[in-house]
Amino acid sequence: MTFKSLKQFLNIKMRMTGLYQYGSRDHDCPFCKLTKKRILWKSPLLMEVKDIYPVSKNHTLLITKRHVASAEDCTAAELRAIILRSKITMKSLRKLDKKITGFNLGFNVGESAGQTVPHVHFHIIPRRAGDHSNPRGGIRAVIPGKAVY
Ligand code: AMP
Ligand code: ZN
Repeated sequence: MTFKSLKQFLNIKMRMTGLYQYGSRDHDCPFCKLTKKRILWKSPLLMEVKDIYPVSKNHTLLITKRHVASAEDCTAAELRAIILRSKITMKSLRKLDKKITGFNLGFNVGESAGQTVPHVHFHIIPRRAGDHSNPRGGIRAVIPGKAVY
């Protein structure tokens, strides 16, 4: 097999190894344009930032480096990285803030489910006892009135 150029050879090799897709970025996307100083931690697959409109103190986002809209399109490596990193982040947040007594974790997938930024991000929302008059149901309460049982 012959290759016309080094670029063509590298493209084929990257596709074969699955590395190609991890370079995907969208210049109109706020998460593809995050400045270095906003990124608290990064790995080859993920970035960790504080949410700019936090729903609780230290609301944190784990964002894929790759621009892809839906958690359904994450690779196994990205999903694994998100779950493993969330464990570390929760531990360090608990250490930082002794008032944290729990977390809500999750993805919004699609506009009808409330997603506003179409680039995969995992919410880590610290909870503190008493921050809501009736926290029962947590993320099950995203559709008002449906969490009661
Ligand atoms: P979602 O509604 O699940 O798509 O969540 C988007 C989240 O991203 C919201 O919690 C926003 O406050 C947050 N957000 C939007 N733009 C930025 C940004 N530039 N840096 C950090 N967080 C952001
Ligand atoms: Zn993006």
